[in-house]
Amino acid sequence: MEHRINDLQIESQAHESLDFPVCINQMSSITYQCPNDKTEELNVENPKKRPYNCPYSGSKCNVTGDIQWLLLHLRNDHHVEMHDGRSFSHRYVHHNPKHLHHATWMLTLLDCFGRQFCLYFAAFHMRKTPMYIAFVQFMGDEQEAMRFSYTLEVSGNGRKLAWQGVPRSLRESHKTVRDSQDGLIITRKLALIISTDNNNSKELKLKISGRVWREQ
Ligand SMILES: [Zn+2]
Repeated sequence: MEHRINDLQIESQAHESLDFPVCINQMSSITYQCPNDKTEELNVENPKKRPYNCPYSGSKCNVTGDIQWLLLHLRNDHHVEMHDGRSFSHRYVHHNPKHLHHATWMLTLLDCFGRQFCLYFAAFHMRKTPMYIAFVQFMGDEQEAMRFSYTLEVSGNGRKLAWQGVPRSLRESHKTVRDSQDGLIITRKLALIISTDNNNSKELKLKISGRVWREQ
């Protein structure tokens, strides 16, 4: 029997296209057979052309390649959703937030300014304290990443918590970014207060909206 590693869900809706269908993803522990990587086709001498690691967060994946290759791989092999537009709004549902045994991740891709970004949401423990973190990573090198900024905002029940950040390059792993706490961090206690569904205390619903822009 396949064991589900978590019960985290995402319900997403793009801000800029109101008729965009609400989609629901669910992360599972499926082990992907990833195709052979394209490392040998890339020039390892040129740091700009150094291959990137697959940014997928749900299972260990050793695929490497350039950004265009990884975008195809994320869509075809990991079935990651891509959202067009610089504004976004997602609702994350954690079905059983009181029983968080392993770190769990959700990944959505954002496409704007002709570039792509990874939006991560994770439930994890920081020194035994259950937490949530959301952040954006740029699918490209460090130098170009610094030309962008983003905001994230979580709100509900009259509370609002906002974060403004600079996306870190995909050269760093999502776990490195999480461990450096470079994102919107919400403790589980606060998350339960902000949760938009107080009627069902077992379930946590967090609405996180955000925007990416390019610095002049
Ligand atoms: Zn992968």
